[in-house]
Amino acid sequence: MALIVHKYGGTSMGSTERISQVAKRVAKWARAGHQMVVVPSAMSGETNRLLGLAKELSPGSVTADQLRELDMLAATGEQASSALLALALQAEGMPAISFTGWQVPVRTNSAYTKARIESIDDVRVRQALDSGKVVIITGFQGIDDQGHITTLGRGGSDTSAVAVAAALKAHECLIYTDVDGVYTTDPRVVPEARRLKTVSFEEMLEMASLGSKVLQIRSVEFAGKYKVPLRVLSSFTPWDIDIQEEAASGTLITFEEDEQMEQAVVSGIAFNRDEAKISVMSVPDKPGIAYQILGAVAQANIEVDMIIQNISKDGKTDFSFTVHRNDYARAIELLKNEVLPSLGSPEVTGDAKICKVSIVGIGMRSHVGVASKMFRSLSEEGINIQMISTSEIKTSVVIDEKYMELAVRALHKAFDLDHNQA
Ligand code: ADP
Ligand code: ASP
Ligand code: MG
Repeated sequence: MALIVHKYGGTSMGSTERISQVAKRVAKWARAGHQMVVVPSAMSGETNRLLGLAKELSPGSVTADQLRELDMLAATGEQASSALLALALQAEGMPAISFTGWQVPVRTNSAYTKARIESIDDVRVRQALDSGKVVIITGFQGIDDQGHITTLGRGGSDTSAVAVAAALKAHECLIYTDVDGVYTTDPRVVPEARRLKTVSFEEMLEMASLGSKVLQIRSVEFAGKYKVPLRVLSSFTPWDIDIQEEAASGTLITFEEDEQMEQAVVSGIAFNRDEAKISVMSVPDKPGIAYQILGAVAQANIEVDMIIQNISKDGKTDFSFTVHRNDYARAIELLKNEVLPSLGSPEVTGDAKICKVSIVGIGMRSHVGVASKMFRSLSEEGINIQMISTSEIKTSVVIDEKYMELAVRALHKAFDLDHNQA
């Protein structure tokens, strides 16, 4: 008998019919003798619906007080789906109880809408498990030390599930979703994408941070920190398939670089449209400029991703960087009002119609020429590269948003991901 955590995403919980399929699947695992903890997302569309209502009532920029209320609001989506799942399990004749984040409690810091989990109390959960119940814990949320409800950022139920699995020292955490594993790239964009049987933790971390939303990045960080065995698999297989077969399906996140990985150089391609580019033109090329610009941005709590500074001409240089699109307008305002005047008022321009496309693979460590192959393949498609950043196991480029799909498809082909290893 093992303790297993299942997580079901929004589409998997999308209707009462789907919820009853989830209940049947969970009951099958419980009847096979496992202690089951289930972490559901809100029913698909519900979080967007709730946040949309909030936007109607408070358009414009959001104050700290409003952020608190957004979390009160958004957390209800998971409360509803969790109770529905408990009811569906009970209807299957399987004793079940649901807990919200604050009932467990799942303790977080107070960063509303993007809180981080600090600890999870396992006493109440273990008591319920020991009394023979399936325990359902709401995804996406917790409570801070003042008793305020917090949420963990979009896609945060993945993180709830992995954190719960870590706290309970679960045998495995299974992330059930609407695709049957982690693919070489988003299968909705590239139909030729292939499912990976395994993906290394490091690659998964890069893919998640570079835009593959199949797992929220913090869930991967948690899995790495606490060595939680993690698998991504489909909730759309028939609920009554053989449990061994199910347990071996999907994609396993591995922590050791296994020998049989006569590695593909590039394992996956990630992309995102969440960033915007800002350029400060003709700034004096002298010490302290990067700090003057980026220091102010950091002080406003705006995260910067890629940075590029051109070679100076006549003592003047151009300085560009990317921020999240949600922070774009605020960053431009800030630069215009607070930074440019002290820089001799150079010009600031911006472009929100960009995207970032990245190739990821631990094989890149031991191969040269990977980035240049990427650049060649983009140039053959006539795609202009605006910014580049590299690390040991990834190369990212910023390009015009309208070429995103073309770029991803071209790279998928160029690196032979259409039909390489498994
Ligand atoms: P859930 O609601 O189950 O959490 P998400 O929508 O958050 O599901 O994540 C699953 C989606 O992630 C898939 O439907 C797919 O479109 C997308 N995705 C992006 N990149 C990948 C990838 N490399 N492999 C698999 N799915 C991916
Ligand atoms: N319901 C939340 C969201 O839509 C959390 C999740 O689904 O993981 O972002
Ligand atoms: Mg998700």
